[in-house]
Amino acid sequence: MKRGLIKTAEEIEIIAEGGRLLRDVLYAAAGMVRPGISTWDLNQFAEKEIKNAGGRPSFKNYGDKSNPFPAGLCTSINSVIVHGIPSRQAVLKEGDIVGLDIGMEYKGLYTDTAITVPVGKISAKAQKLVDATKKSLNAAIAEARPGNTIGDIAYATQKIAENAGFSVVRDLVGHGVGYEVHEDPAVPNYGKKGQGMKLAEGLVIAIEPMLCEHEYFIVMENDGWTISTRDGGLSAHFEHTVAITKNGARILT
Ligand code: MG
Repeated sequence: MKRGLIKTAEEIEIIAEGGRLLRDVLYAAAGMVRPGISTWDLNQFAEKEIKNAGGRPSFKNYGDKSNPFPAGLCTSINSVIVHGIPSRQAVLKEGDIVGLDIGMEYKGLYTDTAITVPVGKISAKAQKLVDATKKSLNAAIAEARPGNTIGDIAYATQKIAENAGFSVVRDLVGHGVGYEVHEDPAVPNYGKKGQGMKLAEGLVIAIEPMLCEHEYFIVMENDGWTISTRDGGLSAHFEHTVAITKNGARILT
């Protein structure tokens, strides 16, 4: 039987437990980011730590059987927006920014979270993009409460992004999460206040703004996963799994 979008209090506690463990893995991997490390090494570490935490890396083997995602961690460098594939050849350099996006199945329930990390000293522009992306996620989360709508979240994200002089990706969106890696509803990062589904207590969503330095158009690389900015500009990504509670959003990651 297909389960609905609303999670029980017990399920939310399990998602929160998994989310805390996953956040620790993500921050430990982020702590390893430095010039000279490969994204392969970051992924090996993250997969091992997820297993040590009692979870399963939910991105690994995700997708179509003909081309499943090969890793537990997405590593998205500079102009890569999301879904970059870890590789021994992808060695981080001073001045890069790298998005680390990670998902875990824990006790049968899923969480999803991402951050963008500077590699050594980065440009003022890159720092501004990273800061605006984080700020837009926080603004979006502040709108995630019962009675508000998906559009309120979307509007808050877009406003912060565009006021900072950046664009928000249209073709990739946040999503419900919990029983599956990706569930309904779609949670766009652009939109109008009051539009879309009303948020209800017990809904669990992954909110994930993706901001671009210039235009928001995307291209898919030949590997069938890596999604980059069409114009080659930088992009940053932050994501939390949150539960809608009667008191507002509860961040679970
Ligand atoms: Mg996600």
